[in-house]
Amino acid sequence: MSMEVIALGTGVSANTLQTKHLRQPPGFLVNIDGSYVLFDCSEGIRFRLRRVGVDLGKITHVAVTHAHPDHAALPQFIQSKFCFVTFASHDAKASQLRIYLHKRLARDFPQVWNWHQPENDGGYWNTFAPEIVGMDDGFEEEIFPGVHLRAVNVYHAFGRHPAMGFRLTTPYGVVAYTGDSGVCEGVRVIAQSADLLISDCQTRVGQEYTGGYGHMGPRQCGDLALKAGVKQLWLTHYYDLDAPDVILAEVREAGFFGDARLALDGDRWRGK
Ligand SMILES: [Zn+2]
Ligand SMILES: [Zn+2]
Repeated sequence: MSMEVIALGTGVSANTLQTKHLRQPPGFLVNIDGSYVLFDCSEGIRFRLRRVGVDLGKITHVAVTHAHPDHAALPQFIQSKFCFVTFASHDAKASQLRIYLHKRLARDFPQVWNWHQPENDGGYWNTFAPEIVGMDDGFEEEIFPGVHLRAVNVYHAFGRHPAMGFRLTTPYGVVAYTGDSGVCEGVRVIAQSADLLISDCQTRVGQEYTGGYGHMGPRQCGDLALKAGVKQLWLTHYYDLDAPDVILAEVREAGFFGDARLALDGDRWRGK
């Protein structure tokens, strides 16, 4: 009985800018006693799931922070799930897919789907249809017994893009994921006393700001982790343009001396 988080993608959209590590775009898989929730659904994530030994049929819950293309390759995921159910597995669990989106994105997603599948007049295949759950600020749902997903609005893309951060409360601890966000009340809410905070750290050292586009830098992540009483901090979603020791020094400069690391694809974290 346990919980594990696997980093499937710690990079950004511009993977090829990264020379040191090959980081894929965002994706974090949480396994709670064999039930899976995926945070962000970037391009080709099914291949990475396979690489870590997780069968696509087991992914029943997907929560997407926002619709930027590096976070939300949903049509591809839905299509591959459909193919999986059709050709590989007919069991009831494999055919379940609940997708959590900000309510505005949930409202508009059928247009995206229809662009890919006009032959279905905006509908899904009659053998497989995901449930799209539209979330308001402060949304909460018990997604598995004893496991609660909370979603809170965060600040991203000049505040014009509906973006959310997630907080997953489980019997084995609390995992928080900021998605893409600048410093805002939403990230403070989700990070409060988290056992693991997975934090956007796209802004470069020395270029941190409040407001603006809406990403955080390492000093802001350290400050957030310190004030929220976070136990472990994973920095993610960065370009590798600053040296790791410089980035971590910024976290320490902010006063956070807990466990902090620059997450790499394949990293794993275990809840108690
Ligand atoms: Zn974004
Ligand atoms: Zn992003």
